[in-house]
Amino acid sequence: MKNFVKFISVPVALGTFGVLVWLENRRPLRRSVESKITRNGRNFAVAGIAAAALQLAEQPVAAFLSRLVERKNLGLLKIVCLPKWLETILAVALLDYTLYLWHVLTHKVPFLWRFHLVHHVDLDLDASTAFRFHFGELLISVAWRAAQILVIGVSPGAFAAWQLFLFPAVLFHHSNVKLPIGLERKLNRFIVTPRLHGIHHSIVRAETDSNWSSGLTVWDWLHGTLKTDVSQSEITVGVPAYQNPDEVTLTKILPLPFEKQKADWQLSKAIKRENHLR
Ligand SMILES: [Zn+2]
Repeated sequence: MKNFVKFISVPVALGTFGVLVWLENRRPLRRSVESKITRNGRNFAVAGIAAAALQLAEQPVAAFLSRLVERKNLGLLKIVCLPKWLETILAVALLDYTLYLWHVLTHKVPFLWRFHLVHHVDLDLDASTAFRFHFGELLISVAWRAAQILVIGVSPGAFAAWQLFLFPAVLFHHSNVKLPIGLERKLNRFIVTPRLHGIHHSIVRAETDSNWSSGLTVWDWLHGTLKTDVSQSEITVGVPAYQNPDEVTLTKILPLPFEKQKADWQLSKAIKRENHLR
């Protein structure tokens, strides 16, 4: 079962990406700021390095620890003897919740924000943004992933099931697909939708500080951080101090976490003036 789930994870993610790109062309949700070719090239370059980091660091650690959990009965879910299917569902839900907590930390802890910033300075939001995470953020998150597996008690099968669910979910909510509003409202009662995550990528701080869930919206709902009342046409995507396309090129964003940080949430004077003149 575990091997089958692992085997279909990549085709499922790639298939989801293909369908979303097709839908983004047919029914775009937000207007683009930069050229799609330039952004795709940049986002896939960041993603290539990130994929290598995941393969070299996260996958071996997760495989080793989840096998240890299984062998030694470690973690919360192993305290009680649950049927396998129920243990897997609970493990996926708890991994999703603790990913919500990690996402909050990447915004609130200045050292982590340096890295997560690279994801947020994208001036547009589409399925390619879902791949754009700085390798440093992924390397640091290995420690969190290890704690998730050990504390929750995640078996190899449950970890594979979570990844099968997580990758398409992350691609979907980053996508620039305009769903019929009725469908979007039905879906966002359960899962994170493109409009919800669009609000999280807004340059308005109070809007960015909402909608931190990755899979299920219940975590934002429980923490009072769910925001649905912002129209996509009012949203400017990105971080205020990085609204100039020249500042978010590949050679600028890769060293960004290691440089002196700007006052991220202040619009530059030039941009303010531009907005005023419009
Ligand atoms: Zn974020």
